[in-house]
Amino acid sequence: MAERVQVLVVGAGLGGLSASLFLAREGVDVLTVERHAGTSVHSRAAGQNWRTMELFHWAGIDREVLEVSPRASQGLRITVATSLAGRVLHRLMNDGSEFDVSTSTTMPAGMAGQDVVEPILLAHAEKAGARVRFRTELTDLVQDDDGVTATLRHRDSGEETVVHADYVVAADGGRSGIRARLGIGTTGLDALSHCLGVVFDADLGDRVQAGVTDLFYLQHGDFTAGLVNTDLPDRYVFAPDYFPEKGESPADFTHDRLVSMIRAATDLPQLEPEIVWTGSWEIAARLADRFRAGRVFLVGDAAKVTPPTGGQGGNTAVGDGADIAWKLAAVLRGEAGPALLDTYEAERKPIARMIIDTSLHNMKQRMHPGLDVSGIGEPEDMLNAILGFRYRSTAVLTEEPDDGSRVEDINAPTGRPGFRAPGLASTVDLLGQSWVLLGTDDGWTSAATEAGIDCHVVKDELFASRYGLSRGGASLVRPDGVVAWRAKEPVNDPAGELRRVLDAVLSR
Ligand SMILES: Cc1cc2nc3c(=O)[nH]c(=O)nc-3n(C[C@H](O)[C@H](O)[C@H](O)COP(=O)(O)OP(=O)(O)OC[C@H]3O[C@@H](n4cnc5c(N)ncnc54)[C@H](O)[C@@H]3O)c2cc1C
Repeated sequence: MAERVQVLVVGAGLGGLSASLFLAREGVDVLTVERHAGTSVHSRAAGQNWRTMELFHWAGIDREVLEVSPRASQGLRITVATSLAGRVLHRLMNDGSEFDVSTSTTMPAGMAGQDVVEPILLAHAEKAGARVRFRTELTDLVQDDDGVTATLRHRDSGEETVVHADYVVAADGGRSGIRARLGIGTTGLDALSHCLGVVFDADLGDRVQAGVTDLFYLQHGDFTAGLVNTDLPDRYVFAPDYFPEKGESPADFTHDRLVSMIRAATDLPQLEPEIVWTGSWEIAARLADRFRAGRVFLVGDAAKVTPPTGGQGGNTAVGDGADIAWKLAAVLRGEAGPALLDTYEAERKPIARMIIDTSLHNMKQRMHPGLDVSGIGEPEDMLNAILGFRYRSTAVLTEEPDDGSRVEDINAPTGRPGFRAPGLASTVDLLGQSWVLLGTDDGWTSAATEAGIDCHVVKDELFASRYGLSRGGASLVRPDGVVAWRAKEPVNDPAGELRRVLDAVLSR
């Protein structure tokens, strides 16, 4: 007989593990399967932006993530140069103090690699009740009105099992087999460039600033490459481009050739780097045409692949996972109508588009001046995209007049529905667990109790001004910390108004 679960998550990367953790925390019965034997061994996505850390804070893992990223508090320097001691072409970031996000959030950013963050997500997902099976791959999937029937195969024993799930989260990465199986196409630019990833140990002395994340984009006469330090002392990642169109392949980059490239990149001709890992990947900018097919939802790289120039691939995978989790939980509990699930694509796809376009413009500026960005959307300021993003869907009651903006300036948050509720010291711990009504006085308390949601009265003036409320006003904030609706002024029938609003935004 088929095993039954409420949600089957396929893939235990950042997207799948985030979905698993947030689903399990909501009490959903979740099974996660991953074809590899364990979590990622490569640090790939190093960096948690403030929004990711806010989500991690609400999931109770932010401190652990900061503990494994000691460089985080020290800053970030980004330099475009000919080599480490060569000519500096641009200094994109001096020390990270350029990032002043204090008006929008109290959260620090993290700099931990994927190799150390995934085990934290995994441990907490399991602690919250998620079942995770490694060496287990999905090999088939069919769905009907009642659910999804998935075939799983254990990669060692070859044993096949059948699972019946109410919903599936496809977090199976950029080459998503599930996306292909569902016939969902992608649009965008494939193979923008090809990179090697070379992890090496060496003493680079003062070529690299210790204690901060020191990221270089190198435009050397003989190659273009990224070079960055890691959380481990004397460990670096060197990522040179290679060009298949010129007949090059990763196999051409022998140990000796890599050593001489690292020497040239670091201006240390005698250096004896110890190469500990090499791999290769393709940089692409691809967006799935749909994020949903029936009961299956694409998250993370399965839904979009963005160039790394912006560092948002892993961060948006976490955001996707958290988003689909609270929506599935609300529908499975019967608190929301199934149409709430349509808001996943409506909200997350425009974010993916914005991140891809902005990262492509960054790529042109930092690495590939010749990149044709003429058919690509305008970039947004990355801080505004991360913290000032806007959702438009039926799960938000947009206020009129609507200025049509995709983001707002994080230094001037407005508290409008669709935007992140500003994370103030007085509010951050009231948010992120469930629906919550934040009022300026006691006038809304009984209405919230009647509607079955938490209500907190926040009396400081900073709250009222950042949330755009007059005395007697209130903001309704979703479990993901996004404002769903607000009453700027007191209303005549708070209970009736709140009931109508909740019915609308929860599609009931
Ligand atoms: C070199 C490099 C540097 C990067 N730097 C950054 C950065 O600085 N910041 C950032 O935010 N992002 C960065 N990224 C991007 C980031 O790594 C990805 O966006 C992120 O890993 C996506 O997570 P995911 O969970 O969607 O997919 P993945 O991490 O790819 O996970 C998908 C998982 O699904 C599994 N799977 C696939 N098919 C099946 C199946 N049929 N059954 C079971 N399991 C299956 C795979 O084994 C895999 O573990 C970088 C990527 C690379 C390659």
